Amino acid sequence: MFASAEAFARAASLRAELERYNHAYYVLDAPLVPDAEYDRLFVELQALESEFPELRSADSPTQRVGGKPLASFTPVRHALPMLSIRTETDTEASGARAFDAQVRRELGLTDADPAVEYAAELKFDGLAINLRYEQGVLVQAATRGDGETGEDVTQNIRAIRQIPLRLNTETPPAVFEVRGEVYMRRDDFARMNERQRERDEKTFVNPRNAAAGSVRQLDPAISAQRPLSFFAYGLGQTEGWTEALNHSELLDQLAQWGFPVCEQRCTALGADGLIAFHDKMGARRESLPFDIDGVVYKVNNLALQRQLGFRTREPRWAVAHKYPAQEAVTRVTDIEVQVGRTGKLTPVARLEPVFVGGVTVTNVTLHNQDEVDRKNVWIGDSVVVRRAGDVIPEIVGSLTDRRPADASAFRIPSTCPVCGSAVLREEGEADHRCTGGLFCPAQRKQALLHFASRRAMDIEGLGDKLVDQLVDAGIVTTPADLYGLTVERLASLERMGELSAQNLVAAISKSRETTLARFVFALGIRNVGEATAKELARHYGRLDALRRANADALQLVADVGPVVAASIAHFFSETHNASVIDALIAAGVRWPETDGGGATQGALAGKTFVLTGTLPTLSRDEASALIEAQGGKVSGSVSKKTSYVVAGAEAGSKLDKAQQLGIKTLDEAGLQALLAQSDLSTNQEQDNEANS
Ligand code: NAD
Repeated sequence: MFASAEAFARAASLRAELERYNHAYYVLDAPLVPDAEYDRLFVELQALESEFPELRSADSPTQRVGGKPLASFTPVRHALPMLSIRTETDTEASGARAFDAQVRRELGLTDADPAVEYAAELKFDGLAINLRYEQGVLVQAATRGDGETGEDVTQNIRAIRQIPLRLNTETPPAVFEVRGEVYMRRDDFARMNERQRERDEKTFVNPRNAAAGSVRQLDPAISAQRPLSFFAYGLGQTEGWTEALNHSELLDQLAQWGFPVCEQRCTALGADGLIAFHDKMGARRESLPFDIDGVVYKVNNLALQRQLGFRTREPRWAVAHKYPAQEAVTRVTDIEVQVGRTGKLTPVARLEPVFVGGVTVTNVTLHNQDEVDRKNVWIGDSVVVRRAGDVIPEIVGSLTDRRPADASAFRIPSTCPVCGSAVLREEGEADHRCTGGLFCPAQRKQALLHFASRRAMDIEGLGDKLVDQLVDAGIVTTPADLYGLTVERLASLERMGELSAQNLVAAISKSRETTLARFVFALGIRNVGEATAKELARHYGRLDALRRANADALQLVADVGPVVAASIAHFFSETHNASVIDALIAAGVRWPETDGGGATQGALAGKTFVLTGTLPTLSRDEASALIEAQGGKVSGSVSKKTSYVVAGAEAGSKLDKAQQLGIKTLDEAGLQALLAQSDLSTNQEQDNEANS
C-alpha cells in the first residue's frame, strides 16, 4: 500500500512542528510544549514512517539526535557519536515487558534460556556531557549537539565542583571519556530562579532547561554562579583501558575514580526485575531532590551490548521507560466564575478531560483575573496542565501559537453571577468580590454565621450545622428571616428537640435588643471589623446617618481610610442590602441611638490602649468596655500611636514591643487608677460646663 496524499501532508506537518520544538528545546533551552506532547507527535510520525517507509527522509526528526550546535561555541567532533535512547511511552508494566521481549528476540533467546540481566538507573533530566580525560586529566567537555558534533563547554564544566579535574587513579588510561548528565537540583533551581527574578533576569521553565541554559552560557563567569550537579552513567571513547565485564561494574569504577554516580540503581533480572525497579522509583520520584522523567534499562553485559548494536539514533540494548507525564496539553472549553463563601470571585477553567499525573483533570482554578492575564489563557486555547505528586493541578500557560480564530479573552464580570450585585476590586488586592454579602446566596451561610456570632448579634445555639439545614431547606435566606422562625418550624428539623427550638427562638428574640456597633459589625461589611464598627457607631450615633454618609465623609471617622470607606459606601448603596436592613428593623431589631460624635468625647478620647495577658479581675471585654466608655480606643496591635499597654499575667510579645517603643505600660491597678482619675476629670468638666 502506498502512502496517501493525506499521509504525506500529515508527515510533513509533523516534521515541521517537531523541528520547531526541537530548535526551541535543544538550541534555545526554552521548550514550547511539554515532553509528553512532543513524544505524542514523535510517536505519531514514527508510526507513519514505519507504515509507509517512502515517507521517511534522512532529515526527519526520527532519524536524528538533538539539535544543531550553536555557532558561538567551538565545535567538537565526537570520537564516538553521542546517541539518544529509545523512549518507551507505555508507562505501564507492559512497557518493560516489550523491551525485554525485544532484547530476547534480538539475542535469539528462547523461553528455555535464563532471564537477561539488566542495569537499571534513573533517567536524569538534564544535559548530556562528554568529559574527555587524557593521561587522567580533564582536557575537554562537550555537549551532545546533533550527536556527531557538540559544543566545547570545557570552561563552564570545570566550574562544577563535582566533576573531577583529574581521575582518582595511579594508572590512568591514555584516553578515557566519561559520559553523564549535568542537572540542577530542584531546590537549587528554585533559589536560582528567585535570584534571577530579583535581578529582573531571565527565569527558566524547569530544572532541565536551567541546567542546559547554564552549561551553554557564553560567559563562564555567569555559568560558574549557576548551581549545577553531575551524575556519570557511561563511557565514550577509551584507549588503554581494560574494559569491565558489565555496566554495573563500570559504574562502580567511575565512582571509585571520583565521579558522582547516583545510588538509586540496581541490577535487575528479566522483565519482572525491571518492573519492580520502575515501581519502586515511581513511588520515590517526588521525594528525590532532582527531576527524573523515567528510568533507563541497559543490558548489563557489555559483550551482549556490542552484539545488539545500534539503530540510526539509538542503541538496541537500552530503553528509557517513562512515568506518566506530569504535564499535558488540553483545551479550555470555558472559563466559569465561582463565588465563594466570602464573596470572592474565582475564575475556573473547564477543560477537555486530560489524563495527567495519574488523574483525569476536567477543571482547574485560575485564582483571579491577574492570573488569567499572566498565563494568557483564553477560552478555546490549548493549555499546558501540570499535576505533580499530590499537588492541585494547575495551568502552566497557554500555547498561544495554537490559538484558534474563535478564541475569546476572559474578563471577570462586573456583577455577581450568583446574585447580580456589583463586583468590586479593592486597590492593591488581586481578588474581585461580590458586594451582596447579606443577600448573595453563595455567601448566605457565612453571612448568617457571622451575623449570629458572639461579638455580633450573639444568638446562642445558631451554629453551622443548623445554618446549613436552615439554608439548604430554604427556610432562611437572609438574617431578617431568623426573626420569623417559630418553635414549631424549628422543632420539625432533624436533630432539633422542642426544648432546643424554644431556646433558640428565645435567643433570637433576645438579640433584638442590641447596640448600633454590634448591629453594624453583624452586617458583615467587608473590611469592617469590630473596632471599626464601634468607631462608626460612636461617630454617627444613628444608623440613618451612617447609611447616608458618602465615602468622603466616612473618611472623617477615626481609622477609616479610602478602602474601608469605599466598601462601607458600596455596601449601603446596594438595594439588596438596604432591604435586608429594613426588614431587620421591621422585625424589631433596635438599639439606643445618640447624636454621635462620641469619638471626641470622654476623658480618654484620642488615647489608644492595647490589652495583653490575663488581668487579675477584669476580663478583656470588661476592661475594653470601661476604656471605651470614657472615649478610649482598644486596638489589637502595638504601634507608635499606642498610648498605653495594659499587661496582665503571661503577657507576650506585645509587652516586649511596648518596651522597645518606650510606650507606657499599666497593670490592672494602674488602669483602674487612670479610669478613676478620668472619671473625676470628666465629672469636673461637666460641672464646669454646668457652672459656666
Ligand atoms: P533523551 O533525553 O530522552 O535520552 C537520551 C539522553 O538521556 C542522553 O543523552 C542522556 O543525556 C540522558 N540520560 C539521562 N539519564 C541517563 C542514564 N541513566 N543513562 C543514559 N542516558 C541518560 O533523548 P533525546 O533524544 O535527547 O530527547 C528526547 C527527549 O527530549 C524526550 O523525552 C522528549 O520528550 C524531549 N524533548 C522535548 C521537546 C519539547 O519541546 N518539549 C523537544 C525535544 C525533545
